[in-house]
Amino acid sequence: MGFHLKTLETDVLIIGGGTAGCFSALTISENSNLKVIIADKANIKRSGCLAAGVNALNAYISKDETPESFVEYVKRDSEGVIREDLVYSLAKGLNKAAKKLEELGLPFLKDDNGEYVQRGKRSIKINGENIKPILAEAIDKNRNISVLNYVNIVDYLIKDGVVIGAIGFSLRENTVIQIYAKKAICATGGASGIYKPNNPTFSRHKMWYSPFNTGAGYAMGIRAGAEMTSFEMRFIALRCKDTIAPTGTIAQGILAGQINSKGEEYLSKYEKPTTYMRLYTTVMENLKGNGPCFLKTEGITNEQQGELFKAYLNMAPAQTLKWIEGNSGPSSENVEIEGTEPYIVGGHTASGYWVDHNRETTLKNLYAIGDVAGGSPKKYVTGCLAEGEIAAMSIINTIGNTQIVRLDDSEINELIQYSSHFFNNTQSHYTIEEIEQAMQKVMDEYAGGISTGYMYNTTKLRIALHRIEELLSIVDKVRANCLHELLSTFEVIDRLYICKVLISHLEARKETRWKCYQENVDYPLKDDDNWMKYVNSVYKDGIVKIVLRELVGRDKIYEHTN
Ligand SMILES: Cc1cc2nc3c(=O)[nH]c(=O)nc-3n(C[C@H](O)[C@H](O)[C@H](O)COP(=O)(O)OP(=O)(O)OC[C@H]3O[C@@H](n4cnc5c(N)ncnc54)[C@H](O)[C@@H]3O)c2cc1C
Repeated sequence: MGFHLKTLETDVLIIGGGTAGCFSALTISENSNLKVIIADKANIKRSGCLAAGVNALNAYISKDETPESFVEYVKRDSEGVIREDLVYSLAKGLNKAAKKLEELGLPFLKDDNGEYVQRGKRSIKINGENIKPILAEAIDKNRNISVLNYVNIVDYLIKDGVVIGAIGFSLRENTVIQIYAKKAICATGGASGIYKPNNPTFSRHKMWYSPFNTGAGYAMGIRAGAEMTSFEMRFIALRCKDTIAPTGTIAQGILAGQINSKGEEYLSKYEKPTTYMRLYTTVMENLKGNGPCFLKTEGITNEQQGELFKAYLNMAPAQTLKWIEGNSGPSSENVEIEGTEPYIVGGHTASGYWVDHNRETTLKNLYAIGDVAGGSPKKYVTGCLAEGEIAAMSIINTIGNTQIVRLDDSEINELIQYSSHFFNNTQSHYTIEEIEQAMQKVMDEYAGGISTGYMYNTTKLRIALHRIEELLSIVDKVRANCLHELLSTFEVIDRLYICKVLISHLEARKETRWKCYQENVDYPLKDDDNWMKYVNSVYKDGIVKIVLRELVGRDKIYEHTN
């Protein structure tokens, strides 16, 4: 199978037309005449984390809050190691982003005074089933934005250390597309599918994080030598068992407590109730033989039950269908909870590109926004939008006389050869699916997956690294028989790179700062004296070089200096 080559040029290339990518494109279009191309591996109408919709905007500055108090909350919940400057700058844009969504047509729930209805302290309720089609429709109306749906971007195009575009292939026809741009934004979301998931075989892609976000943006950056931060701060969601539906809707919506099989409320038995402690205490109760654990919903009113049915239909329909199918509901039975496998996701925790105050990465002319950008946990939908706006405005202000630069034909041919060689491979003993499962098993058993209660130690991590290296050495020999298999191949390759960086970060932080997310059994205590630092890394010639960086304060204008 051969590829045709298509070449495109634009002012700004946005890789990933999800939440952050679409919003950034809209901001550029509304504030300049710049031409934008959005390239997405799916169809932006229903792609990424928002594909199925959400029922709340989880980052909002409500009446009793300020951007400053939001920073303090995120800092407290993340044990102090966050980029305060980044959290602060996006906090200032949260409410504006929410307002913009309303203007675009997203229905917000309002009280008798016309105020948004709060779900939690920093969360407001929306009818968000159509949030993604609404964003896509707004994009559609802008003549300066072109959308390439079903184009999987594989790598950046780089000349003299500067990002000059990206290359990918169509999932609908045998075409490789090289897109040259003056500036590029990476908005490909986080990474799922790294660890063995909760559900086996046919249901293995029923996971909390979008199974289609496989960390391409991280991997492209890693391969290109971008500095990455805080991969060791993994995110593990506490979820409704089997359906993997969110628990916040119940915990915050009807203030349900967490109870064990004996009916004891267990959260208060442990330290402070941060996000990760809700998970950790559940894992501990199970290890002590007190599981299964539940959200205590038995006895809630019919009205509350009806609200929960509706809320889940908005964003995790499987949960409502499970209740209806079983002729039950949360008022008659408590809801069982469990932790998912770990993910790398900068919108919930802090893993991702190391960016400056404008969200520019350490690779010149490349920005990173949303879940793929590191340093600022708890950004959620509105935080991703706010970051999209910050990057867009910086690009408008700095693009100036930046010129399009192209690679030589020979360099491009090499990249095309690499993509197409998978169609010609005949010698692999393994399918890409087998390599994927081997990777997930290694990570589960040796790098702190579900089966080890998320714990790991140095010896295990070294075994994990060795096995991941082995998989990386054979994955290039895999055969792809169609474009879909080629996509799967690149998705696994990307995740193997992420595994390598993740393992190095887990080993580097010699303390335990966020139980479950990062629980190093060799160093079981938090060590503020030595580890109030960011663990960053740069990948070069197959080696992950760890760089420790000092904390950046709230009012600092952070620029890259080295
Ligand atoms: C299950 C779930 C529930 C959530 N619930 C809430 C909630 O209730 N409230 C809230 O505020 N936040 C919620 N969040 C968080 C929020 O949805 C995310 O933080 C946010 O949507 C991430 O935006 P993003 O633009 O970074 O990624 P996404 O919106 O996921 O966009 C990434 C895009 O990149 C594309 N892409 C990926 N790889 C490639 C590639 N190689 N080439 C081209 N395109 C590519 C994808 O197709 C996708 O369109 C939830 C997240 C999840 C997963």
